[in-house]
Amino acid sequence: MNTFSPTLFATKRYAVVGLGNNGLPAARGLRAMGAQVVAWDDNPAAREAANGLELADPTQAPFDYDALILSPGIPHCLPKPHPAAARAIAAGVPILCDVELLFQAVRASGSRARFVGITGTNGKSTTTALLHHILDRAGIPAEAGANLGPAALSLPLLPHHGVYVLEMSSYMLERLADMRFDAAVMLNLSADHIDRHGDMAGYAMAKRAIFDRQRPQHLAVIGVDGPDCRDIAAWLDTRPARVIRISGATPSLPRGPALPGEHNAQNAAAATAVARHFGVSDDTIASALQTYPGLPHRQQLVATVDGVNFINDSKATNADAAERALVCYDRLIWIAGGMAKQGGIDPLAPLFPRIAHAFLIGRDAADLAATLARHGVPSDTVGTLEAAVPAAFAAATRHNAPIVLLSPACASWDQFTGYDQRGDSFAELARALSATPSPSTTPSLAATPSPSTTPSLSATPSLSATPRRTGAT
Ligand code: ADP
Repeated sequence: MNTFSPTLFATKRYAVVGLGNNGLPAARGLRAMGAQVVAWDDNPAAREAANGLELADPTQAPFDYDALILSPGIPHCLPKPHPAAARAIAAGVPILCDVELLFQAVRASGSRARFVGITGTNGKSTTTALLHHILDRAGIPAEAGANLGPAALSLPLLPHHGVYVLEMSSYMLERLADMRFDAAVMLNLSADHIDRHGDMAGYAMAKRAIFDRQRPQHLAVIGVDGPDCRDIAAWLDTRPARVIRISGATPSLPRGPALPGEHNAQNAAAATAVARHFGVSDDTIASALQTYPGLPHRQQLVATVDGVNFINDSKATNADAAERALVCYDRLIWIAGGMAKQGGIDPLAPLFPRIAHAFLIGRDAADLAATLARHGVPSDTVGTLEAAVPAAFAAATRHNAPIVLLSPACASWDQFTGYDQRGDSFAELARALSATPSPSTTPSLAATPSPSTTPSLSATPSLSATPRRTGAT
């Protein structure tokens, strides 16, 4: 693995504020490149984890830095600028994100490695992981990271023909200076994070920055399934980069079991457009779309027991996301519940006829049960996943339903540390079922699902861990 020169940034001085998943690797990475780094976090526990770094509150001394690297979760404008951001603005010091520093470091190292930026309200992680998988299959050295997986400044230096595939949140996009994406993707746009961006127009402007500084040889991929993105597509037509419009409704290359539904057709279309731009053949793309293993917790097949497929869609923390999963199966047993979002599961009513039986868990189970009862869907409020999974398996056998779907439409914080722990627990409970006698047949060996149907995580090693999120889209 190539590393950056230890003297690359020897003349630079940076303040890094926010020592979390992005900030800590940023501070360490910049120091390893020879920069002088002053690191800070308002939280003493985070400062303690930063051993070996020079810790000082940069607002307590002259603000003489080349840049302030501010964690994506810390605002520099709305709702209120962090004091370090206010100092930087007053001193005319640029506020940058770690991705910008990666770009600068790669170019300063003389590498012409290409950069892909992927943004949108939904589907970023899937498209990032999928494109990485396609490039990997094509034999192109590729690294994926930023808002998903490894932080930008923990990625290695890639050679000229290498490709960085970077998931970009709107917060990161506001903090770029020179970054020029060889291929930039905007999948879709719906109201989100309005507190940070003021209004929808502000959010759209922040996202649109992914196309800034592109030249005619570069590629701009834009999803046109919603009105806001169609406006951006029209704007892109006035810009130099080559524009490709994509839609989930357009027929694409056939996709494998880890990419169900129209939303994944959009993700696949975006990844395909970028891969073709880098010269990957349609044959290679088509086979990679079949072998893509999927990301954990997003409609992930985690076990097949006596012909019943257990699908972990724990990432669906709201009704909108659960809808995308429910629509993929004609007849299923549904496990849902937790901390419901505004509007509950009412918007899912058109899909209720697909649900043979529901098992409800968590704080707001009773509310969900009431909604289901109004629509004649049989349900049991069982409280916990431990109770729900075996009950769902028995119901699947009884109703001859081939799918048990955990797509909770609710946040997980009432019972779990996050959606990932909830999904892991579901997978474990489902796999354990094959170790106990099933309701109708003898124990099966299906606990180790067959490689042809089961997404394995080994194919995309750098993304195999639970994706790291900043909470930003
Ligand atoms: P993100 O990284 O943007 O949060 P993910 O790829 O992790 O997106 O997908 C999260 C959820 O969003 C999925 O479980 C699915 O329900 C939904 N989703 C995925 N791709 C799309 C898309 N292109 N359009 C709309 N919704 C999508």
